[in-house]
Amino acid sequence: MRCPHCGNFDDKVIESRTLANGEAIRRRRECNGCSYRFTSYERIEDKQFMVVKRDGRREPFDRLKIEKGVERALEKRPVSHMQIESLVNDIEDQAEIMGRVNHEIAAKDLGDLVLEGIGKLDKVAYIRFASVYRHFENLDEFVREIQKLGSGESSRMEKK
Ligand SMILES: [Zn+2]
Repeated sequence: MRCPHCGNFDDKVIESRTLANGEAIRRRRECNGCSYRFTSYERIEDKQFMVVKRDGRREPFDRLKIEKGVERALEKRPVSHMQIESLVNDIEDQAEIMGRVNHEIAAKDLGDLVLEGIGKLDKVAYIRFASVYRHFENLDEFVREIQKLGSGESSRMEKK
């Protein structure tokens, strides 16, 4: 496969894994030219995993979109690209387990998985991500989310 970083066509597969529902294989690859690591998928075309939005519309599960959201939430945080990639892998695995019957997951459930995963990696980013992606009904709800993080953590939060 062509390396998305340098364009080289020579790569090796580092890890090959069948996803939870058994209908897709994910391969982690490393470019032999520049050592950039990327992920490829092999899946049955008509069994695409879908995300059901609030209004009922469906859109294909987009790993890249999740990865970008997570990256944005973890911007300038002490979290490595490897950690992000492994988190996105976990999110994808869990989503496929939750949605294996109908090959789909509710956008809200997916959002919860992402939020939960970010919370495990970095609490500051969790709050940032929560405020951007979650539609808090009111301030109380937002405060409750923050309190869930544990009062002991608040002293380590970033001050702006
Ligand atoms: Zn490369």
